[in-house]
Amino acid sequence: MKNRSCCLLGTASGIPTKTRNNVSIVLDAGDDYYLLDAGEPCAASMLRNGLDYNKVKAIFISHLDADHFAGVPMLIKSMILWARRRTPLKLFVPRRAVSDVRRCLAMMYLVDEALGFRLGILPLSEEFEYRDDNLSMTFHGNRHIKNRFCRNPALRDKYPELQKESFSFCLNLKNRKIVYTGDLARPEEMEAFIGGTDVLLSELAHFTPEAFFQYLSAQNVKRIICLHFHPDWDDRETELLGLAEKYGVKNIAMGRDGLRINF
Ligand SMILES: [Zn+2]
Repeated sequence: MKNRSCCLLGTASGIPTKTRNNVSIVLDAGDDYYLLDAGEPCAASMLRNGLDYNKVKAIFISHLDADHFAGVPMLIKSMILWARRRTPLKLFVPRRAVSDVRRCLAMMYLVDEALGFRLGILPLSEEFEYRDDNLSMTFHGNRHIKNRFCRNPALRDKYPELQKESFSFCLNLKNRKIVYTGDLARPEEMEAFIGGTDVLLSELAHFTPEAFFQYLSAQNVKRIICLHFHPDWDDRETELLGLAEKYGVKNIAMGRDGLRINF
């Protein structure tokens, strides 16, 4: 049987709760892991879930909000100190953030000469497709960041350089189509790439559950895992499942930290 699974390290939205850490998912392809976002404390969570830092082949960051990125420095530091990593690591970030991320890591003394392994900080964009022996992956821009800046002209005018991209990920892992939404502005932003999805890992913070389930009721998705929960829905799994049923959405589960899913 092909080895395909994921472990949800964190399932909170921007605000960690008593039972949920910020969002991070380990995709397990057997010999290699891939991190989809790196909310903190993903390094500690990997350790506690028995996941080897040295197996991480690449990290993909959907956007630079702290709840998706802040775990990166500690993960790299843990790779140095705990795992004594020697194998190269790829860190993919939205294209316009590459130099800022390099500076951010350097500020924490995580410069090339201090790592002990080769760290590639690489741009992801809609024009780029990631491909290796385990998976292929495309990146789809959404309006999560843009909307925030549009709503706040002071922010937009003073910090134009901060309007960095935000992406959803669409990947094929050993013949399974997996979609990770990252953070969206609205569910319809999935329209271009949702068709034929085997596993949808979706946020549930920037739209109401009703809007989400209504949208999903017309989609052909085999399995849905919710994560990145708005704090209002933090401990209301039963209620959410009942709501999904009302909209005729089947094969849906509410994620929680530490949950492993085979597919
Ligand atoms: Zn978020």
